[in-house]
Amino acid sequence: MKLVFLGPPGAGKGTQASRLANDLKIAHLSTGDMLRQAIKDKTPVGLEAQGFIDAGELVPDEVVIGIIAARISEADCVRGFILDGFPRNLAQAHALADMLTEKKMPLDAVIEFKVDQTKLLERIFTRAQEMLSEGGQERSDDTSEVFKTRLEIYETQTAPISAYYEDKGLLKPIDGMQSIETVSKQIHAIVKEIAA
Ligand code: AMP
Repeated sequence: MKLVFLGPPGAGKGTQASRLANDLKIAHLSTGDMLRQAIKDKTPVGLEAQGFIDAGELVPDEVVIGIIAARISEADCVRGFILDGFPRNLAQAHALADMLTEKKMPLDAVIEFKVDQTKLLERIFTRAQEMLSEGGQERSDDTSEVFKTRLEIYETQTAPISAYYEDKGLLKPIDGMQSIETVSKQIHAIVKEIAA
């Protein structure tokens, strides 16, 4: 099963991708997690990405495309994968199409998490407050101003790729504002339908 999870920041893609990957025993490929790990490890990619992430902007295409091209070639992706946070613009979507054509691994579906923006802002502020009250640290890009930038970038650069996938007959929209369990059930139903 080869899937893309598409949706704005805070829509629950990461939570759902991690659950489904675990259930289906396939790889969960989150470019955000990979970039945050690279920053922690102070690798050249991490050093390059840090400023973009802190500002809520997209890391340059060649960096994320390179990361995904390498990761998708690893053995654990043969059984399938969920791409979470990639592609984020049309150039990345085209690069992904080229990569998968070359590997003869066509995508099965693109699950799009539809959200209500106002409720999403409330959700993300709650997430940041909970992290702080538990003694943790909020994500450097979850502060209100940076989060708004991330949402704007989603609308202008990422949302247009849903039309690209709809044209290919791959788009499966779901209501991302429902409970984690309900969203999870709907995703499982889509996967079952595709596999049938
Ligand atoms: P995420 O955890 O998916 O919300 O990603 C956090 C941040 O990492 C984003 O705001 C971007 O700065 C960067 N990032 C993650 N994935 C990509 C991507 N596919 N293209 C460009 N930047 C990305």
